[in-house]
Amino acid sequence: MKIQFLGAAGEVTGSRHLVEANIAGRAHHFLVDYGMFQGGREASDKNLELLPIAPQDLDFVILTHAHIDHSGLLPRLCAQGFAGPIYCTKASHALLKILLPDSAHLQLADLERAERKAKLGKWHGEMPVVLYSRQEVESALTQIVPIDYGKWIEPLPGMQFTFHNAGHILGSAIAEIHIQEDEVKMKSCVFSGDIGMKGKVLMPDPELISQADVVVVESTYGDRLHRTLSDTEDELVQVISDTMKAQGNVIIPAFAVGRTQEILFLLIDLVRRGRLPHLSVWVDSPMATAATQLTEHFFNQLDHQTQATMDWFKRHPGAIDLRFIADVEESKALNKIKGGAIIISASGMCDAGRIVHHLANNLPRAQNAIVITGFQAYGSLGRRLVDKVQKVRLFGEDVPVRASVHTIGGLSAHADQAGLLDWLRGFKETPSKIFVVHGEPEAASVLAQCIREDLGWGNVMVPERLHTYDC
Ligand SMILES: [Zn+2]
Repeated sequence: MKIQFLGAAGEVTGSRHLVEANIAGRAHHFLVDYGMFQGGREASDKNLELLPIAPQDLDFVILTHAHIDHSGLLPRLCAQGFAGPIYCTKASHALLKILLPDSAHLQLADLERAERKAKLGKWHGEMPVVLYSRQEVESALTQIVPIDYGKWIEPLPGMQFTFHNAGHILGSAIAEIHIQEDEVKMKSCVFSGDIGMKGKVLMPDPELISQADVVVVESTYGDRLHRTLSDTEDELVQVISDTMKAQGNVIIPAFAVGRTQEILFLLIDLVRRGRLPHLSVWVDSPMATAATQLTEHFFNQLDHQTQATMDWFKRHPGAIDLRFIADVEESKALNKIKGGAIIISASGMCDAGRIVHHLANNLPRAQNAIVITGFQAYGSLGRRLVDKVQKVRLFGEDVPVRASVHTIGGLSAHADQAGLLDWLRGFKETPSKIFVVHGEPEAASVLAQCIREDLGWGNVMVPERLHTYDC
């Protein structure tokens, strides 16, 4: 068996691993994830790279979860000739139906904006590339085979796989794959996908797996420890209480899928426990609304604490005034609210979407608070706010930053270093090979070192992108 790491090697995006398995003397090929590279100057070039084999020769794809950096190039792969099944969990399938069309829409919008600017002579540099159309998304979605967690699937004779809950986002999975190389030799290979943080709200803890020959593990926070959930709750309670007392608004930029639901359930839980009074919460993002409905639909897959909180909320619907905004006019009407509201809106890094309007409206007043809950990439508006700039330029105008800006840590969807090591301790015997992927070089090498020293496992490596490794 061989694995070629086509992405997420020395970086956190572009997850795509090509596996060649020899079964009864015949080579088969499958992919684990086929994600988009995001951010960085080389991302668009890498997104245009071709698969090293003809897409027609690929037997199937196993998708760990719906995030675009794991799933985002599947429509392109299908348009290029891959006609086989794409296996993922049922919740991932439901999320893909929201995320992939949105990805196609954003690509087209980027191109149209650039074309408009180019006509005015205001666009310098290369034109953005549209990687696939909405029709190609629809066609790719027909190739998805949704399956339940824990069910063993036999994609070809001599190979089985199953999905375990990774506790990262709705539908996220760890893939356990068994390959019968010949009559006596069975190799088991585990791809962690993205691993969630133990003990956090919304998702259950990642499932442990007791045996594997080969482990491919993520390392996003391989060199860091998160703040505890109780510290996070204390910070959130403080900011919200102070802002409500000052009759201001709390604006929370949040990714529509995952983070928005996490904040909502955290707020409901804090009200349930009497740590916060009655709240008025507005969720202003159509995608967040759809993702929240999906989260409720897959209620049984949430952690028990969240299920109990949701049951309580159903019995006490007046505890929070929770409203989901659908159309643009309603969204604009929120501008009239001068105080007492919590507005959660996307995008998470404040660069696009309705959140920009809410910031333009709320940044100039000192009684308001902006609560940053997620990673803010260098160059994003969110990052500039975190870096305490005095003014920002929005919609062609300078907007003074008088609202207070708070960064709340501890809400990451990824396990920290301790969480990753805990998950690895689930393997009762030392795997013969461990590959550390999906981390910046420093995070990946620090985690690899911890695996060697803390777990005493020898054969750990950080693979190089495009290199093929025998397993
Ligand atoms: Zn992810």
